[in-house]
Amino acid sequence: MTSAAEIELASVTKYYGTTAAVDRISLKIAAGSYSCLLGPSGCGKSTTLRMIAGHEAISDGDVVFANKVVNDLPPAKRGTAMMFQSYALFPHLDLVDNVAFSLKMKGVEKEKRRAEAREMLERMQLEAYADRRPAQLSGGQQQRVALARALITKPQALLLDEPLSALDPFLKIQMRAELKSLQASLGMTFVHVTHSQEEAMALADLIVVMNDGRIEQAASPREIFEKPATPFVARFMGNHNVITGRLINHDGDRITIETAGGSHFIGLGAHGASQETASIAIRTDHVRLADEETPGFGFSGFVTNVEDLGAMVKLSVQGAGIETFTIVLRDADYFAKPVKTGDAVHLSWAETETVVLGEVKASK
Ligand code: ADP
Ligand code: MG
Repeated sequence: MTSAAEIELASVTKYYGTTAAVDRISLKIAAGSYSCLLGPSGCGKSTTLRMIAGHEAISDGDVVFANKVVNDLPPAKRGTAMMFQSYALFPHLDLVDNVAFSLKMKGVEKEKRRAEAREMLERMQLEAYADRRPAQLSGGQQQRVALARALITKPQALLLDEPLSALDPFLKIQMRAELKSLQASLGMTFVHVTHSQEEAMALADLIVVMNDGRIEQAASPREIFEKPATPFVARFMGNHNVITGRLINHDGDRITIETAGGSHFIGLGAHGASQETASIAIRTDHVRLADEETPGFGFSGFVTNVEDLGAMVKLSVQGAGIETFTIVLRDADYFAKPVKTGDAVHLSWAETETVVLGEVKASK
């Protein structure tokens, strides 16, 4: 395999008509790393990936690949390979010819390209199926063929657009482990598009959370999980509650906000200039059911839903004029003192559990 390449996006923008599908995003992806572009449908993930691959022209900015601006290079000249969600395998060709296809396009003669394809199939543990056609394979095997076909060009970076979304949940988890170990053994730069928080957490060295054509946060999974930068990231990752209110006091790194319902909440770790409104995040698994209200670090409300998830029990609580709060309790803690829908409860959290959120600077 050839060496891995660093990928840099410098203020990359894509307009469709007058709408910016990708809006001045800047990002560095380290050589040999596994990065996930994560965000809801329509936020610009595939467009970003296609601009890296060269399948989509960029409207503005630079795509830099291994220290070279590649804006005007066609896909085949960039050293990238792309794997698509639908795999796009040729139904009438056997696996060897499917995998050898791009070598054929490059004019590699038949014996040589078929030998290389067989080698790649072996690497993917598919040698026993070499003479079959794609329809005679399971979903997981088809996916390995698609990977083999992308890797045979010896790319410096592999770009994967929702590669696991066609698989059933069990296979999805198995294949994602295979992708991760493949990436580690090849040492190749992988950029993987997904809308699944769990998938990104499981795979990535770097998670890039996108929203509406912009990057909300690019950081390690740990940092995204523990220190979401913005209300969007906190809500999208799903493991934090967000309280937004009018900023009524800012003292050092400590802020107090007042919600529309008139309740006060305190957040620690504030930085930068104060705005008129501010948001605080609290992890769903760091909220406790308490005997009494803790002013500034808790509130009283009513249970609106209880979900038993096995090891965890998830409660929804409404109160204090804020959005519905989610609390995740260990099963033992819940069943020691169970509550049901309609019950009044006090919620509380430690002051060190609050994260003060920032806003993405509008670049328009
Ligand atoms: P994602 O992969 O995150 O779901 P996309 O990158 O596919 O999002 O799309 C981002 C935005 O650009 C969406 O609003 C989508 O409708 C729009 N878009 C994507 N491709 C085209 C296209 N070829 N022509 C016009 N609009 C497009
Ligand atoms: Mg997409």
